[in-house]
Amino acid sequence: MKFGDNRTAALKARFRQTRLYQAAALVPLGGAVLLLANARRYAADFGLLPIILGAVFLLGVTVVFSWMNWRCPACRAHLALRWTPGHCLQCGFVLRSR
Ligand SMILES: [Zn+2]
Repeated sequence: MKFGDNRTAALKARFRQTRLYQAAALVPLGGAVLLLANARRYAADFGLLPIILGAVFLLGVTVVFSWMNWRCPACRAHLALRWTPGHCLQCGFVLRSR
């Protein structure tokens, strides 16, 4: 997909923002990991159900946010499980210039 220079620069800037937001998605994921890693200790105080529900909720937040956020700025196609995509597999838009 070809755009003018201004449009291309704006889309690349939007993708930098998308990457930043995607890094923020590691926060609820880390929370779920910490919750599960300490499940035995927390379960002694609260029981196992709230631990499991909390972890499922945090994982759900991570997956839903990531699904909505991790998209090509040009065509909105999902960027799949690639942390550093160079271009969009759907439209070919170059996401990062080297
Ligand atoms: Zn695209």
